[in-house]
Amino acid sequence: MLRFDNRFLLELPGDPRADDCPRQVHGALWSAVLPTPVAAPRLLAHSPEVAAALGIDAATLASPEFVQVFAGNRLWPGMQPWASNYGGHQFGHWAGQLGDGRAISLGEALAADGARHELQLKGAGRTPYSRHADGRAVLRSSLREFVCSEAMHHLGVATTRALSLIVSGEEVVRDLFYDGHPRAEPGAIVCRVAPSFIRFGHFELPAARGDIGLLERLVEFTIARDFPHLSGPPEQRRGDWFVEVCMRTGRLLANWMRVGFVHGVMNTDNLSILGLTIDYGPYGWLEDFDPDWTPNTTDFEGRRYAYGRQPEIAQWNLSALAGALAPLFSDPAPLHAGLRAYAQTFMTEQARWTAARFGWERLDDERLRLARDFHALLQRCEIDLTLAFRLLADIDPEAPSLQTLEAAWYRPALVAAEAGEWQSWLGAYAGTLRADPRPRAQRQAAMNAVNPLYVPRNYLAQLCIDAAERGDLAPLHEWLETLRRPCEEQPGRAHHAARRPEWARERPGCSMLSCSS
Ligand code: AMP
Ligand code: MG
Repeated sequence: MLRFDNRFLLELPGDPRADDCPRQVHGALWSAVLPTPVAAPRLLAHSPEVAAALGIDAATLASPEFVQVFAGNRLWPGMQPWASNYGGHQFGHWAGQLGDGRAISLGEALAADGARHELQLKGAGRTPYSRHADGRAVLRSSLREFVCSEAMHHLGVATTRALSLIVSGEEVVRDLFYDGHPRAEPGAIVCRVAPSFIRFGHFELPAARGDIGLLERLVEFTIARDFPHLSGPPEQRRGDWFVEVCMRTGRLLANWMRVGFVHGVMNTDNLSILGLTIDYGPYGWLEDFDPDWTPNTTDFEGRRYAYGRQPEIAQWNLSALAGALAPLFSDPAPLHAGLRAYAQTFMTEQARWTAARFGWERLDDERLRLARDFHALLQRCEIDLTLAFRLLADIDPEAPSLQTLEAAWYRPALVAAEAGEWQSWLGAYAGTLRADPRPRAQRQAAMNAVNPLYVPRNYLAQLCIDAAERGDLAPLHEWLETLRRPCEEQPGRAHHAARRPEWARERPGCSMLSCSS
């Protein structure tokens, strides 16, 4: 049985009302709310690692009761469901109160090793924060969240996890591209798991309302529960905390850029105070390298959340957080120090990853220039980011050949047009490899450990969704298995590493995603 302590409820003020009527909730950080039961829940997938971390055994996982609990139909002892109250900046504009409109936390479970795991159902029904929406989620977006959050973990990127993916047995109506063509889709519920789901927007809302007392309580709670190693007098402790939040965010962004992840909706309500990737919606994986690419159709015009802008947007979001926290500081110096620490951490981490990905033990001006030229060539020639880096390890330092990278090309004619540029780049790169004192096999192993072969490509997610909607779960389960070891070549799984096929170039769900989910 899981043990819960539910500190968020015990230590922070809640909403006196206990119904799900849409409303503005003042002076409180959560509202008690029950998941709405669903008709015929069925478990499609679970994460064995997350279940193990929670201490949920195989018999429980296989039981009908597990499905009932994680579909929101039944509670285990100690669970006290709530929806939390937060605001946020959406696409750069203050949006006021948002809150958990379709996420319901069941409780904060404590594992045997003392680790805290908040269990949160996404798509479990209406809450006071649902506004006019239904509180539900569809299978396609739930499957995408389940797969990607687990894949991110195995890629070494900080993220919320997912315990279970359950179809509800009910239909949910969505207008995929908001163009007047709604359709009924299978509904689903994901149980997300993280030490905390507190977002930047949790701090922004009380600050925007001038409720400094509530803001201060939340900051002190967050430090005490989630950053217990920080101590000292309040202002120093809070300053150290903000700097740590900034550094974690810097590390996160360097990792997103390394693996080619585009979040798609980096609103301040979608950034975690723990520096975790959170809220997988219209995210995407960069295929051909294009810093201007965004998967989110809502963002096609402004491209605010395009791949290449993510580091700058994270800093924008941290500035919004700093603005919210400012009333708690007599001197803003620690807030400025935090923002500088973000930039510094991001650059240091990015440099470290860059060196590792190219197989260099150190970076110098020449290598930095080579790295920049490589990215420029990938962009001009429409080359797959993931495969290009993976194939670099196969370049022969004595006889470098452009053909080594062929599996990463989307348009061979563009590569041919730059053949001269490529030859000189490869010549210079091979020179850096010959200068490496390590045995070749050792360098190749080090490169392969940071350049994944298998990432959750958009079109592969869509193939699993198509199959799951037909009732065939085999592709999903096989893919989840592959993604557990993303850097290790796995026999018979070449189809999980292949670059995007031509049919997927413009297909909805593969390169274009909307917030409708
Ligand atoms: P997101 O774009 O997922 O970050 O969501 C922004 C806000 O809209 C959050 O407050 C969500 O809880 C809310 N929201 C999104 N979809 C739904 C839905 N189907 N029902 C209720 N609230 C939703
Ligand atoms: Mg969100």
